[in-house]
This record gives sequence, C-alpha cells and structure tokens, in this order.
Amino acid sequence: MIKPLQYVSRIKPYVPGKPVKELERELGIRDSIKLASNENPLGPSPKALEAVKELLSADGGLNRYPDDSGYYLKNALSERLLFGGNGSRAKISSDEIILGNGSNSLIDVAVRTFMGPGDEAVMGFPSFVFYPIAVGSVGGVSIEVPLVDYRHDLTAMSDAITEKTKIVFIANPNNPTGTINKRDEIERFMERVPEGVLVVMDEAYYEYVRDSEYPDTLKYLREGRDILILRTFSKAYGLAGLRIGYGIAPKTVISEMDKIRGPFNTNSAAQVAALRALKDDEHLRRTIDINERGKDFLYKDLGAMGIRYVPTEANFIYMPLNIESKNIYNALLKTGVIIRTVGPKAIRVTVGLLEENRRFIESLKKIKEL
Ligand SMILES: *Cc1c(COP(=O)(O)O)cnc(C)c1O
Repeated sequence: MIKPLQYVSRIKPYVPGKPVKELERELGIRDSIKLASNENPLGPSPKALEAVKELLSADGGLNRYPDDSGYYLKNALSERLLFGGNGSRAKISSDEIILGNGSNSLIDVAVRTFMGPGDEAVMGFPSFVFYPIAVGSVGGVSIEVPLVDYRHDLTAMSDAITEKTKIVFIANPNNPTGTINKRDEIERFMERVPEGVLVVMDEAYYEYVRDSEYPDTLKYLREGRDILILRTFSKAYGLAGLRIGYGIAPKTVISEMDKIRGPFNTNSAAQVAALRALKDDEHLRRTIDINERGKDFLYKDLGAMGIRYVPTEANFIYMPLNIESKNIYNALLKTGVIIRTVGPKAIRVTVGLLEENRRFIESLKKIKEL
C-alpha cells in the first residue's frame, strides 16, 4: 500500500461546520440553523447573483476557461485599495494582488512558496486551524504561541522567531476569539520582525471591524516590508460557496506565488460575483448593520444569563465555558442549532439574523448544565 509522507500523516484534519442538510438528515428534523462557519446570514449581494445568472446562459462563456489574470477584479480591487495615512493616497497596483480559490488557498500557496521541511511558522493559539495544516503539508513546523486575554501576544510571538522562521501568521481579527491587535501593537511588532520573515496578516473579517485603532496594514506594503495581507469574499461579501479571496503583497512576493498557484485558480462565476459584490456598498452596509445589531442583542442576553463572552470585532462570538463544550454543542444540535466547539472548554457562535440569534438564546436557556 502506498504511504503518505510522514509529515502529511501527522496532520490533524480540518473539521468543517456541520451543514444544515446533514444535521436534518441525521436527526430527521427541519428548520435547523447554522451559526457555525461565520457566513453572511443575509446571503450574497443580489447584484452578485445577477452577474452569476448572466453566466448561466448558452452564450455565457462557461465552455471557456476563466480569465487567468483576473483582470477586471484585480483592477477593481486596485481602485479600492489605497495606501492610507500621511495625506498621500496611492493605489495598490494589480501586480501587487493575487486571487485565490478562497483565501485559504493563498495561505497554502504562501507556505509552499516560502517554506520547506524543517522551516518554522509562528502563529497564535488558538487561532485559525488551517495554518498548521498548510505548514504541516510541506513538512514545516508550527510554533504555536498562546493567546493572552484572548488576543495574540505579539511580544511572545516576535520572541518566538528564530533563524528557521519563514512566516508569522496573524489573524486580525483572530478566529476563533474575534479580538484584534491594535495599530500601536502591530507597529511595535513589525519593528521587531527581522528581514526575510513574511508576515501574513489574515484580515478575513476586515469589513466587520469597528474599532478605530484597527491598523491599516497596507502602510507596511508601502514601506517595502515582507507582508502578505489576506482578505476574502467568503465572509462579509457572502460568497463562501463560490470560493474567492485575495492577497496583497510586494510584486516580488506576488510573482513567486503566481508561479505555483495553479492556472485558472479562481472560477468565472466567482470572479464576476466578487466584482459586482465589491461595488454593492448597500449590501455590505446592511451586512455590517445586522451584525452590529446581532452583537448588541447577544451581548445583552448572554450578559443577563451570566454567560461569559469575549467582545468581538468580527461576525462571531467566542464563549469560554466551565463545562465540556461538546455537551453544549450536542444539546444545541438536538434543538437544530449548529455552532462550533473550540477545544474542550469553549464555543464559537456566528452572529446570525435577529431571528436566528433569538433561537440560539432560547435553545441555550434550555440547557440545564449552564
Ligand atoms: C474564514 C477564514 C478565512 C478564509 O476563508 P476562505 O473562504 O478560504 O476565503 C481565512 N482566515 C480566517 C481567519 C478565516 O476565519
């Protein structure tokens, strides 16, 4: 029998949130809700849906390969992405952008571009579970630095950098805790990162952040730093099912990643949908608004129930528990509410529509152990 590489067989698999249909099949129930994968509860922008419908016709061009260069989407992104600060605002150019089949795939491409067996990547713990999988897939070593107060401990993370370190991953906001590291902390951290180490700023929840001290990381690109900023259309833009995200980095980083990302790595539907979604400011505004209202509602009711939670800058809430998270997870499942466990003693809940949030609270109230 063929054997996988040893470092591949050591990888712990990614466990996705349970799909609603699967739960309903298993339990024979209906009207379940999924608050497990940080998806946009409003759905995609109607304008994005229109764009996809146009493709689904005889002359829509689905017999053709997608535009490998992602010309229109990259142009639109470059129009929108401006270096901030100091009054001077310059555009990011298209050759500083790479598109990916979800930003997950760009994590993978970055790792394959810059790491080999024995190389190290520094990351927080708990943080995004895909980082150690990507690192493990090339035989790299993940150095996991515990969070402090549910936030990345950037001092400890910079202390963890060695000669072997190639990448530092910072999820900002962090998944699963929803916390951010602020401008001045990031600034001090960047001062301490030696040359030759790529800082991956994973900003998957960028659009949701309300804190005015959230860093503008594009500034580090202008300063010529080795930084890769990752964003996605899967979360606030509601296009998780189409798989499209993007990375912003110096041209020299992008051109190397471009070589191995694989041809046609983003599909035609994803490209047109993302392009239209990007221009639908109204839908994005509604998305953020419903998230803010959901946060307020959940904070208030969780507070009233005496349940601890970590205030979030994203579209999900982390709750540290005193009891087994699996028990809460299973009890909620039985009522048709899907959430996520984070380790043995915490859960993560996506902020949903107001009705869904209410349903989650009602289900929670029925759990006696809490
Ligand atoms: C959801 C998420 C992503 C990316 O998801 P894609 O769907 O692959 O774009 C990346 N990083 C974090 C921290 C996430 O939570």
